[in-house]
Amino acid sequence: MTSAYRSGNGPNLVPCAGCGTFIDPTTALYSNQGELVCRPCHTKGEISAATVRGNAGVSYDRTYLRVGIVVALILLRVLIRFALH
Ligand SMILES: [Zn+2]
Repeated sequence: MTSAYRSGNGPNLVPCAGCGTFIDPTTALYSNQGELVCRPCHTKGEISAATVRGNAGVSYDRTYLRVGIVVALILLRVLIRFALH
């Protein structure tokens, strides 16, 4: 990590928004939030964004499943009511 403190010598290095490592802004990447991040943090950000999207998909599936069960129970009650009459 000693190489992180060369900001006075080389190009104007900026700290990575993710891990604080000094990076060259001309070769740095931007995160989903528009912050300058190093390559490993950029890769991590893409993975976490993909994970968030994946979890959102799962919760949507669960919501549909719950709605489906509620609708099925209502239909079952209606059918029972008709059957008793
Ligand atoms: Zn970083």
